[in-house]
Amino acid sequence: MYLDAAKPAKETVVETNGNGFHKPAAVYEKWQDWYASEISHHGAMCCEIAREWITSTDFSELGGASILTGPRWLRLKFNWGASSFPIYWCEAVRKKTLDCGALAALASAIFTARGVKNYRVQMVQRFSEASTNQWSNSWNDTSEQLRWMNDDLIYHEGCAIAAGDGEIKIWDPSAGWWVDPKSKDGYGGLLAVRLSAFNLPADVNFTWGKHSLSAYQWTNIN
Ligand SMILES: [Zn+2]
Repeated sequence: MYLDAAKPAKETVVETNGNGFHKPAAVYEKWQDWYASEISHHGAMCCEIAREWITSTDFSELGGASILTGPRWLRLKFNWGASSFPIYWCEAVRKKTLDCGALAALASAIFTARGVKNYRVQMVQRFSEASTNQWSNSWNDTSEQLRWMNDDLIYHEGCAIAAGDGEIKIWDPSAGWWVDPKSKDGYGGLLAVRLSAFNLPADVNFTWGKHSLSAYQWTNIN
């Protein structure tokens, strides 16, 4: 999930409430068993043409720039908003809004088509309760948004690319920027990250800034 419109009404101080709110294991607990979002394929030309459109559009948007460039054009083409799953390629390309999971899946497909090794990234971020409440109110389907949030914590997805020597960079396709590994706690702070990929061995480790991440394991940031 990505919030760019909902700013907190005022600074909200998050107190430790005795339930281990700040304890590392708690932040990703709700999403522990979630998989990174996928875009489904009908196994037919409808989806094949849609996927081809995404990769050919990326090729022209890239315009000869480095293949490691973040596909910012996705954020310009699709507004961030609710998506329902399963979502098929032929449906996704026609949407005006896509959620962070669908955008991350598209970014992953783009990097793969460019020949860039990439990983799916799941994140837990903290926002103030004021902003999440405001965000909740702007969301029509209450049951859907509740799945993504837990008090002031929000589930989010992105896409990491291999940057050499076990280092990764994390692209946030909903925001259209590279996530800063020197994340600070507080409003918008990144609290936990998990990397996964198809056929990725479980014993692989990655370096992201000063953080060491193991494949498939939630790692607390901060
Ligand atoms: Zn289709």
